[in-house]
Amino acid sequence: MKKRILIIEDDKDIVEAVRYNLEKERGFSVLSAKTGDEGLNLVPQMKPHLIILDIGLPGLTGYEVCRMLRRDAETQDIPIVMLTARGSESDKVLGLELGADDYITKPFGIRELIARVRAAIRRKEADSGTLEVFDDGKLYIHFEDYIIRFHGREPKLTFKEFSLLKLLVQNAGRVLSRDKILDAVWGYNYYSESRTVDVHIRRIRKKLGPGAQDYIDTVIGVGYRFKPQNPESQPSPVPSNSKSQATSRP
Ligand code: CA
Repeated sequence: MKKRILIIEDDKDIVEAVRYNLEKERGFSVLSAKTGDEGLNLVPQMKPHLIILDIGLPGLTGYEVCRMLRRDAETQDIPIVMLTARGSESDKVLGLELGADDYITKPFGIRELIARVRAAIRRKEADSGTLEVFDDGKLYIHFEDYIIRFHGREPKLTFKEFSLLKLLVQNAGRVLSRDKILDAVWGYNYYSESRTVDVHIRRIRKKLGPGAQDYIDTVIGVGYRFKPQNPESQPSPVPSNSKSQATSRP
C-alpha cells in the first residue's frame, strides 16, 4: 500500500520538487494544498499517512493548521513534518510544542526530507504496532508477507529468524539483551540459552550477506541492536542539475 503524503505549501517549486522526488521513491503518493484551509479540507477524504506542513502560508499559518489537526481526534495522530524558513530556536520549539513530529529548515536537501518523512512514518507505525514495511532503499522487509530484499537479493529466513529480525527492527536503535530476545521470540517457557540468539543472529547475517553487519550491531556483553542506515551518508545518485534541492524563494 502506498503511503499518502499531503504537502501544504504555497511555494510551487517546493511542492513540485517534493512531489517528484517522493513519487520517484517506491511507495509514496502525494497530494498538495496551497493553503491551510484547502489542506484541512483534504485531510478527511485523503486520510494521509503524513503531512508536510509549511509555516508561512497565506491565511491560516502552519502553526494554526497544526493546532487544529492536533485538536481533532480523527487527525491528532497523523505525523506532521514542519517546513520552516526561520531557523530560530523558538520557532522550532513552538512547532514541536504544538505537536509537530519533526521540522526541517529551508533550504533543505530533498534526500534529508525523504529520510525524515520515512522516519516519522516508521516511528508512528512502531508506536501503534502496525509496522508493515521497513524500506530504506537497500533493505526492504514486508512484515505481513514475510518478504525480505537486501541489495536486490531475496534471502530465505526461517520463521524464527524472521521473528528475531522483526523484533530488532521494531526496536530500532535500542539494544536488546539476549534474555529479552529469548523471551520475545521463543517465549518464557522455552528452555534455551543465550547462545541460541547468537546462532540465529549469525545465520541472519550470513543469509543477508555483505552489508548485514552495518544493520545488526553486536553490543558486547549486552546483546544486539538494529541500526537503520542513514541515506544521507550515501552518495546521492541524483545529478546536480535535477531538482535534488528544494530552496525557498527570496
Ligand atoms: Ca510558504
